[in-house]
Amino acid sequence: MKILITTLHSWNIELNATQIEQFAQYAAELRSWNEQLNLTTITDREGIAVRHFLDSLRVAQSWGAVPGQLIDVGTGAGFPGLPLKILYPEIRLTLVESIEKKASFLRHVATELGFDDVEVVVGRAEALGRDPLRRERYDLAVARAVAELRVLAEYCLPLVRVGGRFIAPKGGNVSQEAEQARAGLAKLGGSLHAVEPVELPGIEPRTLVVIDKIAPTPDMYPRAVGVPSKRPL
Ligand code: SAM
Repeated sequence: MKILITTLHSWNIELNATQIEQFAQYAAELRSWNEQLNLTTITDREGIAVRHFLDSLRVAQSWGAVPGQLIDVGTGAGFPGLPLKILYPEIRLTLVESIEKKASFLRHVATELGFDDVEVVVGRAEALGRDPLRRERYDLAVARAVAELRVLAEYCLPLVRVGGRFIAPKGGNVSQEAEQARAGLAKLGGSLHAVEPVELPGIEPRTLVVIDKIAPTPDMYPRAVGVPSKRPL
């Protein structure tokens, strides 16, 4: 936990005792469930702290204001959504994951962490984006390691209210991917706000792609399940 605490301190974020305990508990549950379920290939303590927790938490430096409603699309074992919920427990968090076994881990770990208001939805992002109860309802959508940006944007932007944001943690060199996504973003009501370099201790450079939702998403998006990844915008 030391690398987590000291790095956050350098970002002017101080964890309280409850939060430190929650991160330790989350790491322990991840390692334990990972013996049965293929949740992550990163299982060493420092790897979990840096590549999962800090990479997720860095999103908070770029979101402007703490979001009331946050949705994490293709969350897997909870990244980046759950670390952000630990940092800001007042956030209403929805975790979306298409695989039921991963969702059962998410429900378990949310309960263990003491959260009774984390919503876990088993389903596909494309279907959620067409649900009137969810469409354009969220202040912020996040997604990590789910798809290339053009595809991610079609998954996430329909869920974000106009004036909200979509933030994607990515690997180091994404300028070409971001440029390639520009036209698709415009079709979805999005606009590239920034591509921010991210430095985390001891690992290769990372990036945050920050996209503003500037206009409503036309009704035709997202297209049917599977189409965005087959024919990216
Ligand atoms: N975001 C997590 C992380 O960074 O550790 C998990 C990344 S994992 C490589 C991608 C996850 O997205 C998988 O668990 C997969 O089931 C889920 N996924 C992929 N496409 C999806 C979709 N269209 N809707 C919902 N979940 C999806």
